Amino acid sequence: MVENTEKQTFGFQAEVKQLLHLMIHALYSNKEIFIRELISNASDAADKLRFESLRDPMLMVDDPDLKVWITLDKEAHTITIRDNGIGMTREEVVQNLGTIARSGTREFLNSLTGDKAKDSKLIGQFGVGFYSSFIVADKVIVTTRRAGVPEGEATRWTSTGEGEYDIETVSYPKRGTEVVLHLKQEEEEFLNDWRLRHIITKYSDHLTLPVIMQKEKGEEEGEGESGEEVVNRATALWTLPKSEITEEQYKELYKHVAHDFEDPLMWSHNKVEGKLEYISLLYIPARAPFDLWQVGKTRGLKLYVKRVFIMDDAEQFLPHYLRFVRGIIDSNDLPLNISREILQNNRVIDAIRTAITKRVLGMLEELAEDKDKYQKFWKEFGQVLKEGPVEDFANKQQIAKLLRFASTHVDNEKQDVSLAEYIARMPSGQSKIYYVTAETFNAAKHSPHLEIFRKKGIEVLLLSDRVDEWVMGHLTEFEGKPLQSITRGGLDLGELTDKTAEEHYKQVEGDFSETLNKIKEVLKESVKEVRLSRRLTDSPACIVLDEQDLSSQMERLLKASGQPVPIHKPILELNPDHMMIRHLREEQDTARLEDWARILLDQAILAEGGQLEDPASFVRRFNKLLLELTK
Ligand code: ADP
Repeated sequence: MVENTEKQTFGFQAEVKQLLHLMIHALYSNKEIFIRELISNASDAADKLRFESLRDPMLMVDDPDLKVWITLDKEAHTITIRDNGIGMTREEVVQNLGTIARSGTREFLNSLTGDKAKDSKLIGQFGVGFYSSFIVADKVIVTTRRAGVPEGEATRWTSTGEGEYDIETVSYPKRGTEVVLHLKQEEEEFLNDWRLRHIITKYSDHLTLPVIMQKEKGEEEGEGESGEEVVNRATALWTLPKSEITEEQYKELYKHVAHDFEDPLMWSHNKVEGKLEYISLLYIPARAPFDLWQVGKTRGLKLYVKRVFIMDDAEQFLPHYLRFVRGIIDSNDLPLNISREILQNNRVIDAIRTAITKRVLGMLEELAEDKDKYQKFWKEFGQVLKEGPVEDFANKQQIAKLLRFASTHVDNEKQDVSLAEYIARMPSGQSKIYYVTAETFNAAKHSPHLEIFRKKGIEVLLLSDRVDEWVMGHLTEFEGKPLQSITRGGLDLGELTDKTAEEHYKQVEGDFSETLNKIKEVLKESVKEVRLSRRLTDSPACIVLDEQDLSSQMERLLKASGQPVPIHKPILELNPDHMMIRHLREEQDTARLEDWARILLDQAILAEGGQLEDPASFVRRFNKLLLELTK
């Protein structure tokens, strides 16, 4: 490794440069958070070392008490954060402090707006980590030696945060990492011992790792220049009784665990004893991370076994649809040498997972009692939770209670109506929960299928998320009430069916039979049936699916994912009371009738938000009929 010894200069990855620039501006008003980020890294480094030493105890024997030391030097204008954790190799330094490995970073950075307030939130969601040092420092020197690496092979990284960094191999007597921040001239406030101590305590009280500072030198003290003291609680916070933990500490622990800047919406802390023994501390974040939808991104809880950190993102403790939950599991029953592979098929884990799933669903139920707070949650994570009824059969009903929908009875786009509320509002005689699915909220809201429901004042849920069709396919009923798509099958209003209207249909059916047959003949390639409609009051026509047919939304989803789509023809329903349809009955000209029939079908498809196979012909026919009006 001789050739590595010399100083080498590297350029930051483009994303790092962009992030550094944006971050310094966006987070300037919140600059003290660099302390949190650096102590948090030291704590992770200690956790990693403790974990590695389970397999290789020699790594720690010479220096077994893991700590982080923070010192300030007023003359040199520096703050130093040193830990005796895992340290980094030269390669790791280049990888960790020169690049951002997370996929989607570029897209994320491009989404920033230049508006400070907004961007600081977004950057918070992204998590800035080590680079936040450059908010207050104009030069940062990191010296680090990986556990197990000889003294002469430590690495030094130096940068002014402007585009380049230097790397050299140096000699360093200790294991771990030292970060020296050369503060910008104007950042003197952090050299104030009292101020710094205050910030450090705030940001490290929740950590297990002791944070050590030089004792404040009182005038009278004189001799004790080596006096050090622990400035945080330095116990595993989650092992303490709830009564001994402050809100602030819970929140700070969350920020450390979740790499989030914002406070969580809620948390639940529990010690389970009996057949299984574990502690769980579960948090519901207030905001979705920028990469929530990234495929293949693992997400999960921080796993500890008997207080020893084992791994981040142990996703086996939560079902996929609760992947937004963050927190800690500390188990007494799992072996310390557990690996991700073992986690896959383990009865202890299955049992914990079942219990935690219940616990989270309970938390959400509690959250739902506060409508405003729950709306916040729903906006961020509702789409994820909607996967629940499909994934988790056993808890289907409980999850269904937590779902929220837009509805004809709410006058905006808010998804705010629960199934229980819907049922409570149902008029007597209504036995089903009605819903309509469409591509967009507006398409759902204006669907011709709603006409009869509007007229009768029956509530219909308006569904327009991509997953809705799929979710409803699995839900099928709630508290004994079947869920019914109003765009499928015959209209079944049960006891709410209007007897006189029914008589009326029976009467006109005969009058229209010849016309219906003619239209059927014209459209036989495109529809499986043409019939009179009981659902329309204003529109002339609509498309209906059979119960088992694939919806157009599902069809598009399948097509988009490159899967074969079974061909099915819809049913065309015509409104016998509409002027146009009545006119059609009188139409003697076959060519005109054909144009009308095709236009009616195409219109009905368009009204559903569907796509025409031959839009140009639709326009031509339509214009032909319009021109006739001018004659
Ligand atoms: P994050 O902590 O969110 O991963 P950072 O930018 O803060 O992001 O750090 C990047 C990586 O650098 C860390 O994941 C870790 O591997 C390494 N690192 C940072 N600080 C230390 C440290 N004090 N000791 C060992 N490794 C560190």
